[in-house]
Amino acid sequence: MSKSPINLLGLDRLTLRRFVGELGERPYRADQVMQWIHQRGESTFDGMTNLSKALRAKLSSITCLETPSVISEQGSVDGTRKWLLRLADGNAVEMVFIPEPDRGTLCISSQVGCALNCTFCSTALHGYNRNLTSAEITGQIWLAHRLLETSEDNRVITNVVFMGMGEPLLNFANVVSALYVLLDDFAYGFSRRRVTLSTAGVVPKIDELKRACPVSLAISLHAPNDELRTRLVPLNRKYPIASLIDACRRYVADDSRSRITFEYVMLAGVNDSETHARELVKVLSKVPAKVNLIPFNAVPGINFQRSDSVAIDRFRDRLLAAGIMTITRKTRGDDIDAACGQLAGKFQDRTHRSTRWRRYQGVAGSMA
Ligand code: SAH
Repeated sequence: MSKSPINLLGLDRLTLRRFVGELGERPYRADQVMQWIHQRGESTFDGMTNLSKALRAKLSSITCLETPSVISEQGSVDGTRKWLLRLADGNAVEMVFIPEPDRGTLCISSQVGCALNCTFCSTALHGYNRNLTSAEITGQIWLAHRLLETSEDNRVITNVVFMGMGEPLLNFANVVSALYVLLDDFAYGFSRRRVTLSTAGVVPKIDELKRACPVSLAISLHAPNDELRTRLVPLNRKYPIASLIDACRRYVADDSRSRITFEYVMLAGVNDSETHARELVKVLSKVPAKVNLIPFNAVPGINFQRSDSVAIDRFRDRLLAAGIMTITRKTRGDDIDAACGQLAGKFQDRTHRSTRWRRYQGVAGSMA
């Protein structure tokens, strides 16, 4: 661990320009440093050969390039890979890569644990420790590029989703700095459409996100009325459904092409009836929406069951019949607890990990 407090990995371009300016350097030096770090994966200042020796020496004396490190990796039979990452203070978070034929999605964490206590989510079971720094957030993408580059299947990250551990809108400033880096052409150059922030519905921050960096927005809705939603997502008490839907409308108001994605976990006998589907159609009638139905992923110690496929299909068909674009999310990586709501990185439970640890072979079905 470095002693330096300034980790350049977390600085967006404006901040980095200001920083090199204070060192008496021209702004374009910041652009070069960003390219070295994020595009070429350089992790030492000595390697940044188009910078003067004096600048390199200065940077290495007052800054650092510190990334999370891999504690362990698991590979699913479906190709999904999950890494447990160690942070400088000994905490750990999880990161997941989900390969699909036409894209590769990296799912990253924004906090160590989560404070929201959604009753069906495993991250909630472990409590909340702290926000990730912007360097720890961009560090996940930096590291994932290195990990994928060196693997046999050579997959590319085409999409990034803030759907790992934590509530990104409760770590607003650091998440927005990281978003700037993700979208920056001198760094990762993702388009806004390919970066999705998922929130349980921190209403005032949704408006702030629109002003700061309007990436694609996903809302963890999970219920069509306040009574039920408050039971599943306690944050609903503070920001009830009507206020959330209004914020969603404002978010997409000036862009006729964009839609909000609503995530809806399918819980048997809880939120999956035809009445719920009808209620949901009403709730979503005022906002450009698409719906992702997520079959509930089992979490030890949590007493919900996944809806059966008949119920899920019936629910989906109701929404489709009302003209709402709806898909059932394929469950990915559930054999390694990498699926939605199964991430629980903070506690390094070695027994559990070692019994489940499998080295990814790159060939579906090749693992015991
Ligand atoms: N806190 C943010 C980011 C987490 S995203 C949010 O709530 O949106 C993780 C997604 O997986 C959320 O939609 C969450 O509600 C969902 N999820 C949590 N536990 C789950 C489980 N056991 N099965 C399926 N989905 C779950």
